[in-house]
Amino acid sequence: MTILKIIPTDPYVLPDEVTYRRIVNHVVKSFPKCEIAEGISQLPQFVDCGDDLEGVSCPLCGAELDSDDWSMLMDASYDDEGFSDLNIITPCCHKASTLNDLEYNAPCAFSCFEVDIADPKKIPPTLLKDLEAIAGFRFQTIVAEYQD
Ligand SMILES: [Zn+2]
Repeated sequence: MTILKIIPTDPYVLPDEVTYRRIVNHVVKSFPKCEIAEGISQLPQFVDCGDDLEGVSCPLCGAELDSDDWSMLMDASYDDEGFSDLNIITPCCHKASTLNDLEYNAPCAFSCFEVDIADPKKIPPTLLKDLEAIAGFRFQTIVAEYQD
């Protein structure tokens, strides 16, 4: 199945409860026939692209990250309830970057909340702009494919 994940572009942004409900309600209204799931947390979570994640590379030098190195960076940033600090030093070229800025072969990201739509048929063209108007910050979509 395909899950369309709607998340803020800023991994740390956390709306107040009223704004959060307005965001979720707007998504529910925009996809009347779809199953919707949502989650919010105080710290950023990894928003994955499902089965398509095959490689992660460095945005600064382009080197492919060893999967052990990537796991180690993820573990080091994870703090019980989420990723408290996304800052990393790249293992390849030893420069400052963040987990959110790594190049995932299929886009992945980090965010404090997400609204997921199962198998959306049609995405309203103004969806992200409408959500931005409601929330006051920008949104992006992550498309995840999962084997049933
Ligand atoms: Zn590098």
